[in-house]
Amino acid sequence: NSNRKYNFSAGPAMLPLDVLEEAQKDLVDYKGTGMSVLEMSHRGKDFMSIAAKAEQDFRELVNVPENYKVIFVQGGASTMFASNALNLCPTGKEKADFVTTGAWSKKALGEAKKFCDAGEAATSKESNFSTIPERNTWNLRDGAKFVHICENETIGGVEFKETPVGLPDGAVLVADHSSNYLSKPIDVNKYGIIYGGVQKNIACAGMGIAIIREDLIGNAAPNTPTMLDFSTHSENESMYNTPPCYTWYISGLVFAKLLSEGGLSAMEKRNQEKAKVLYDTIDASAGYYNCPTDLKYRSMMNVPFTLAKGGDVEKQFLKEASDAGFESLKGHRSVGGARASIYNAMPKEGVEALAAFMKDFQSRNA
Ligand code: PMP
Repeated sequence: NSNRKYNFSAGPAMLPLDVLEEAQKDLVDYKGTGMSVLEMSHRGKDFMSIAAKAEQDFRELVNVPENYKVIFVQGGASTMFASNALNLCPTGKEKADFVTTGAWSKKALGEAKKFCDAGEAATSKESNFSTIPERNTWNLRDGAKFVHICENETIGGVEFKETPVGLPDGAVLVADHSSNYLSKPIDVNKYGIIYGGVQKNIACAGMGIAIIREDLIGNAAPNTPTMLDFSTHSENESMYNTPPCYTWYISGLVFAKLLSEGGLSAMEKRNQEKAKVLYDTIDASAGYYNCPTDLKYRSMMNVPFTLAKGGDVEKQFLKEASDAGFESLKGHRSVGGARASIYNAMPKEGVEALAAFMKDFQSRNA
């Protein structure tokens, strides 16, 4: 479909065209069942098999060990900010240490403070969240139940390159993967909880996926709402209530596609190549374009940049980009500038076309 744009939105974001086409083919009559996945009972055998296959493929893709549960939940990552604290800090007095590297880890900390003794172990605030504090500067407290990080800050564009280790005894790592889920292989064993919404790197909006070590389930604070208690979803195969069926289905199509294309190592290679095209364009622009983030922690998924000429030229850039079919390049309202989100489904050609546009814009407006 030649009318499709390269959509650089931070989320909801692009979906693979072949996934959309497959969903379209099956939309009205899903594989001869006489109904759409949009209409099916979540307890019927057709949806149950869609759900089970999706979970199986997800586990295979991420290489989820046996002693971890995968739950599919509503409320997005924002709800998990509360669930994490409620499930890991049952008396409300337990400590939890947060590394704040941008807007999302700050929000996670703010929410956890309502439910436990949540503190800031380190922050990159002084650098306007353009870096990640070195691991040896983190002030982790003995007795902390968990240490929270945001693996990829969607707005600021900084991403952890290594999984932090050496946490206090008894503390588990809890990580928000909303904007880099399935973008590269991860070692699940290093985490207590991995969580994120699916609307950026996986599917359409409406669902979060959490990978939770089994021993962390079943100890929630007594006043935890049923829907925020991990055991509710773990004991009921994520079907305690009506799940977001269509989002789950689309997620399943994406998992199958990623597996058929070589899994997460292949995805990482492709994502590295894509990110390099953009960062190289910025770095070779002799300061015309600037990326504010620390080289060491540049995100592979969200590339923020500004134009040295500022205000009016930046506006012109965004307008011309939009007219040329590059959608949603405007930076987050809190930081301005531009931001290209280049999740798994953004084809390399999209990034190359944007780089060519940037070079051309610079030559015309030097
Ligand atoms: N964490 C990160 C890193 C995000 O980018 C977002 C969404 N932009 C959230 C959490 C919140 O996710 P949700 O909208 O699914 O609650």
